[in-house]
Amino acid sequence: MFHAAEQTKETTPHPERVLKEVFGLPSFRGQQGEIIRHAVDGGDAVVLLPTGAGKSLCYQIPALCRDGTGIVVSPLIALMRDQVEALRQSGVRAAALNSTLTQDEASDIRRALTAGELDLLYVTPERLVSDGFMAFLSRVKVALFAIDEAHCISQWGHDFRPEYMQLAVLRERFPGVPRLALTATADPQTRDDLIHRLQLDDACIFSASFDRPNIRYTIVRKDNAKHQLRAFLDDHRGASGIVYCLSRKKVEETAEWLTAQGIRALPYHAGLDRSIRDRHQDAFLKDEGPVLVATIAFGMGIDKPDVRFVAHLDLPSSIEAYYQETGRAGRDGLPSFAWMAYGMGDVTQRRRMIDEGGSPEAVKQVERAKLDALLHVCETAACRRQALLAHFGETHDGRCGNCDACLTPSEMWDGTEAAQKALSAIYRTGQKFGAGHVIDVLRGNKSEKVERFGHDTLPTFGVGKDIDQKGWQSVFRQLAARGLISADHAAFGALKLEESARPVLQGQQKVEFRRDPVSSGKRRASRSGDAEASGSPEEETLFQALRAERLRLAREQGVPPYVIFHDTSLREMARRRPSSVDDMADIPGVGSAKIARYGEAFVAVVLSER
Ligand code: ADP
Ligand code: ZN
Repeated sequence: MFHAAEQTKETTPHPERVLKEVFGLPSFRGQQGEIIRHAVDGGDAVVLLPTGAGKSLCYQIPALCRDGTGIVVSPLIALMRDQVEALRQSGVRAAALNSTLTQDEASDIRRALTAGELDLLYVTPERLVSDGFMAFLSRVKVALFAIDEAHCISQWGHDFRPEYMQLAVLRERFPGVPRLALTATADPQTRDDLIHRLQLDDACIFSASFDRPNIRYTIVRKDNAKHQLRAFLDDHRGASGIVYCLSRKKVEETAEWLTAQGIRALPYHAGLDRSIRDRHQDAFLKDEGPVLVATIAFGMGIDKPDVRFVAHLDLPSSIEAYYQETGRAGRDGLPSFAWMAYGMGDVTQRRRMIDEGGSPEAVKQVERAKLDALLHVCETAACRRQALLAHFGETHDGRCGNCDACLTPSEMWDGTEAAQKALSAIYRTGQKFGAGHVIDVLRGNKSEKVERFGHDTLPTFGVGKDIDQKGWQSVFRQLAARGLISADHAAFGALKLEESARPVLQGQQKVEFRRDPVSSGKRRASRSGDAEASGSPEEETLFQALRAERLRLAREQGVPPYVIFHDTSLREMARRRPSSVDDMADIPGVGSAKIARYGEAFVAVVLSER
């Protein structure tokens, strides 16, 4: 129950009041109000909303409004720790029960639970379904069950956790206790699966568009990827972000190279010592602005709201994976960036991983189709957002104005003749060579290999002098992305014609290519700094001073800065300049517990910056 001083036990606190007094927020967002009222009234719910939509409040507020303790199932200990810390900062009585606790700490929590002294308890699924804990819970007043990251129950999802399967017993063991399943997973298969497995067929389903309008999507052609990354990071100095690489080795090399370039970059992958990994994760959460270079071992359960960018140096395995990884940026709703560099080598590498992987052929076919769908997004000349959302069954009119394709539309050119030349050169050289050699033949380069195979006598030799090396690479990449050709890894990347190439070769089908934008070291027109700092220079100075105060307070307590205040709250403070603790109450994200605790310190910063 909610414990504002004047609250009596008999009355149920009103959700709007809890929102304002505990969380310091003026109004519900989207369907939050509806979902919360439904849960307060005891209904089951499936909540399908994108990252950053505000799913946490959907169970936190009902738990505070209903009698008893809200039990939250969460897959990761790091995630729990952060959420519990953030709740405590707002004056909510929250705790987490997991394997990191000592016996004494665990029994303290049980005691508090029995005494009705906890508003929210976070537990891991394996702990919750253990016999002892189930029996114990049956003697406690449970306000609701919230199953966070509910997609973990589905084998379709990429985060499958077998322990989640056992959560199906909650319905039988706790009849009448509302259950809420929450996830940001967008694909329909996973959704259906989780509803079915959790026996939530009668629950009310709440879903909204999966669009993340504050994320700017950019996909560039690889051309010295490290330097391209460097230029991208230069635009985001001091912001915190993640750089994803496919292999551990590449993670380490990239982190080293960035460090040598004067950028604070920390590696993270499953092969590193536990203590190093924890230290790097901690620095990412608690310091301002290090870049974390990681394999996909990092990210799930990272709730940091102010990740400003996610960069990919390698191609993810599918649109689902790409969307989930990039979705870690910008939970707080401020402008954020998803950037990827991709090239022909990535396509070959991914195809090889599928071919040489251990999956049965039927699964490999699905994996190939998923990769092709992602390549379509990479090579599209139309809006990226439209292509991404279409994959999740959503329509978007396509002029999002916040992706590279919308911001700098690419020119198209009639590539029918070039495609015919390229396909013919592949065919005439026997479908045994990679792009490099075939381009030599097209451009009429008498390389040693060309002479050795007598390819300088072919009719296609030198027919493509009008297009430069990079131009041809672009042609081959786009042919591959459209499935007209494929690279055979068993034969060292030899290019082969696909059936769909025939009508093009025979002149029955036209082909249009996208002209790759010229990459230059020039600064791009829009920098994240500018996008975030919409205010005056004085406002920016104050914002930085407020951030410094927040970092100082966070260090004192050993907690991440964002559990004290989010950037969005500091931005508002910088804009409105509250000159007294009373003025603080109107800043979003500043609830009564935080005013009492930090009000004076932040007002002092505002006053000293005048
Ligand atoms: P999700 O779990 O859906 O990814 P969170 O619950 O972490 O999202 O919330 C994302 C961000 O949105 C947080 O910074 C949170 O404080 C903010 N937020 C949530 N609800 C509201 C609201 N009604 N008004 C303003 N900000 C909100
Ligand atoms: Zn767009």
